[in-house]
Amino acid sequence: MLIVLHHWAADKDVAQVKRTIASLGLKPVAIPGAERTAIGVIGNQGWIEDSPFRGIKSIREIIHVTKPYKLVSRDFHPSDTVVNLPGKVRIGGRSPFLVIGGPCAIEGRDQIFQTARFLKKVGVKVLRAGAYKPRTSPHSFQGLREEGLEILDAVRKETGILVVTEVMSPEQVGLAAEKVDILQIGARNMQNFDLLNEVGRSGKPVVLKRGLSATVEEWLASAEYILLGGNRNVILCERGIRTFETATRNTADLAVVPLVKSLSHLPVIFDPSHATGRRDLVPQMALASVVAGAHGVMIEVHPDPEHALSDGPQSLHFKEFEALCRRISGLEGFMRRSSRK
Ligand code: PEP
Ligand code: MN
Repeated sequence: MLIVLHHWAADKDVAQVKRTIASLGLKPVAIPGAERTAIGVIGNQGWIEDSPFRGIKSIREIIHVTKPYKLVSRDFHPSDTVVNLPGKVRIGGRSPFLVIGGPCAIEGRDQIFQTARFLKKVGVKVLRAGAYKPRTSPHSFQGLREEGLEILDAVRKETGILVVTEVMSPEQVGLAAEKVDILQIGARNMQNFDLLNEVGRSGKPVVLKRGLSATVEEWLASAEYILLGGNRNVILCERGIRTFETATRNTADLAVVPLVKSLSHLPVIFDPSHATGRRDLVPQMALASVVAGAHGVMIEVHPDPEHALSDGPQSLHFKEFEALCRRISGLEGFMRRSSRK
């Protein structure tokens, strides 16, 4: 439920509405906004009757929220959320487009340090690399796990680059939160609710990928778990969905970028590597996401993709990545100028 007050409502009117909400055993959340004063209601598991609010003159309108998410929605938070990362790096709103790059998996210290130094050289501030790898086959490389986290911790301390890595279970969150700057929830775990609750409690910035076959509503409802746990630092990541089409690894659903921006205040990024599964398609789709209004991209890049232990065919070579970064930056400038006109 969303309660919108008249523009003349004073602090005591707001307090009265909040008291009424609390008297029902529910939680009021103030909704900031220059245009209106509104109070959201959370904590209910079903319909809330209007009757307790009926005599309150300062109330202009009561909106019943039927979506499975509230804190994530623009109704509850009209302005864009900007997620603050360490080192004054920001994502969301009108912050600069954020490029995240790195290999699918951590394979060793040299590979990660070489990649981090390369990324820094081309001006990329965040490195991605998986320590815990959710692989379809148990016979495939499963990741270096805790040893991988130590490598990430070392690389961020020695180079100053920020690092993002995936967690697959609630038990992994505590240690990962100490060793990296951003946690990632992968497509296969988008509805691992215990994991969502745990990263909610951790307060760490989180990249939440869209599930393999998840609807936008299910994806946003998963983000709601994290926000409800007290963590507002959520970055949504579209990584393609499974359709009847097998020519690409997944079907890149770029329309959700502007769609999700209209439904939610959270930043949205795009992962053209998993969305296509093909190195030759990655640059064009990354550029398309800039035009679609994404706040950033996450791209797989590897010093030697031909010998990568996972996702080599979709990983860019350093040279290709560097050329793409230049094009992204030119396009971003163009988009900013054209949106001001
Ligand atoms: C990854 O980022 O390497 C990954 C496993 O992605 P997804 O969860 O989108 O499949
Ligand atoms: Mn991968």
